[in-house]
Amino acid sequence: MVRLDGVGGMTYFVKRGDEPIRPVIFVKIGGGSGKREDIKTAVKELSLLHELGHVDDFIKQINIKEDAQNDPVAAELYAHNFACKEMLGRGLKLAMKVYLTQAIPQFAAVGCEANRQAAQMFQSSREFKTYLAFCADAR
Ligand SMILES: [Zn+2]
Repeated sequence: MVRLDGVGGMTYFVKRGDEPIRPVIFVKIGGGSGKREDIKTAVKELSLLHELGHVDDFIKQINIKEDAQNDPVAAELYAHNFACKEMLGRGLKLAMKVYLTQAIPQFAAVGCEANRQAAQMFQSSREFKTYLAFCADAR
């Protein structure tokens, strides 16, 4: 069972007997009292999309592999890009803004080593600037 921490969620890959591995996503609900409702919704959206990035990675066997060593930095970077591409495609500007301006800097500063490295790489990527431009007018 592999566990990956996300922004406001976690993904577990559960193996039971001979059954295929199943991803299980947990996303925090509630909390953040005093925050705007649209910000709370944005955090749930970005958290779920980040975790779905880990599932997509696993399904495609890119960085999270069933029978091989995982690369946690590459997996986090993949999830960041997956989440942002989804937010871009769905027009989720506020979620993107919260992701890029709050969650990613937090990971870059205080995340575990893999999260810190991935966040720093993501922040210096060309895609990051594209995503920032997309959500610049979100409030
Ligand atoms: Zn993650």
